[in-house]
Amino acid sequence: MLDDSKNNTRKVTDAICLPHSRFPRIVIVGGGFAGLALVEGLKNKDVQVVLIDRHNFHQFQPLFYQVATSGLEPDSIVFPFRKQFKGYKNVSFRLAEVKEIQNSINTVITDKGKLTYDYLVLATGTKTNFFGMEEVERNSLGMKDIRDSLNIRHMMLQNLEQAAITCDDEERDALTNFVIVGGGPAGVEMAGALAEFCKYILPKDYPEYPSSIMNIYLVEAMDEVLSAMSDKASSKTLTYLENLNVKVMLKESVSNYDGRVVKTKSGKTILAKNLIWTAGVTGDFPKGFDETSIVKGNRLKTDHHLKVYGMDNVFAIGDIAGVITDETPKGYPQVAQTAIQQGRHLAKVLLNTLLSKPSKPFTYKDKGSLATVGKRKAVADLGKFHFGGYAAWLLWSVVHLVSISGFRNKLLVGFNWAISYFTYEKSNRVIIRSFKRTKKVDAQYTSTQE
Ligand SMILES: Cc1cc2nc3c(=O)[nH]c(=O)nc-3n(C[C@H](O)[C@H](O)[C@H](O)COP(=O)(O)OP(=O)(O)OC[C@H]3O[C@@H](n4cnc5c(N)ncnc54)[C@H](O)[C@@H]3O)c2cc1C
Repeated sequence: MLDDSKNNTRKVTDAICLPHSRFPRIVIVGGGFAGLALVEGLKNKDVQVVLIDRHNFHQFQPLFYQVATSGLEPDSIVFPFRKQFKGYKNVSFRLAEVKEIQNSINTVITDKGKLTYDYLVLATGTKTNFFGMEEVERNSLGMKDIRDSLNIRHMMLQNLEQAAITCDDEERDALTNFVIVGGGPAGVEMAGALAEFCKYILPKDYPEYPSSIMNIYLVEAMDEVLSAMSDKASSKTLTYLENLNVKVMLKESVSNYDGRVVKTKSGKTILAKNLIWTAGVTGDFPKGFDETSIVKGNRLKTDHHLKVYGMDNVFAIGDIAGVITDETPKGYPQVAQTAIQQGRHLAKVLLNTLLSKPSKPFTYKDKGSLATVGKRKAVADLGKFHFGGYAAWLLWSVVHLVSISGFRNKLLVGFNWAISYFTYEKSNRVIIRSFKRTKKVDAQYTSTQE
């Protein structure tokens, strides 16, 4: 058990100030599912843990779509690191963005200064991949950050308000049409929630126009939605979406979007001022890795002990880790379960390494997949069992509620869900900050600023 409190006086050892410690320093970049699970595994052990993140909170990405569609407030699905680490004697959090790794001198360069490490762990996740289509990136919104979700919410509410003002029929159509690109879990869940907004909220809030005015398109390049799930889950989901009047366009991909007209590769056009892009992600890591360390999807190539190839003391976990072995030539799926399991596993590997003990290689235990389509409908693949409907939705609700960080957050989310289950009411339809698009590509952090 760690007893380093006597040495716990602040001393300037690096440009970023840290408590003095006689234990080896493990620097973790990124406090997502993977980074947080690793911190938990190293809590109060004989190591100094420094978590660096560009945000001061952990984000629960699976519920971003509910913030975007006014179902939940953002503070119920994010959790401050400092609150999480209360009582963790060996853990320090520093709010900074890591820009570069200089592994030859064991140094991390951040926007706030530098610091050294004995072991470094990259848990930086991914960012939205627009596949080089700059005009699409400039005019659409991704959903990879809580601010993206708020941008989507504000864009949507502002456009609906503007639609009530305009007398131009074509402009009104553009303002009330929504295109979601990508038929994975994020796109499907977003489409389902928007469709319910259209069915239950629109007639109450905007009596001036019929609910048929709001069209929701889901564009997917493959011939099915939720292609990573079973065929049964994919076909059930398609039926659920169609029953909610979502226009699903399969085997179709977006080739351009100028902010008003969506063009597809097959030559179709859709008039829409709302485009939400969930069609892909790409690894997001700082400078300092050469091409031999990078694999498909811009992930860091790691071995089965989660060590980055060619580096002795640098590890990668979660979405950013491309664990390429004979058994996993494409790496593991980029989902929360993989990230959590890798974080937990790496904690054991690091502690064993310090004691010169061998570690078992990482193996992923697939606990199943769930996706929801609006309220009361979901699909579940649990081993041999594939089912859908109300039972799957109940399971989805319980799993998500249990996984959210913080007792207060669980209560807030549970309370909101209970109200909306009985009333279909969403209480957060307020435009707090107006959404304004910037001209900048990759505008995710600046687009709400006026
Ligand atoms: C909309 C959406 C819905 C999803 N739904 C599901 C779902 O239903 N089920 C499921 O299993 N998975 C889902 N996922 C995927 C899941 O969220 C990811 O697999 C998971 O978050 C990966 O965890 P991670 O720790 O690797 O990265 P992340 O959770 O992305 O965390 C990365 C962290 O690193 C920080 N960071 C990044 N770069 C830097 C830097 N240079 N300096 C400092 N900090 C940095 C970020 O701020 C962030 O806190 C969803 C993802 C999205 C976007």
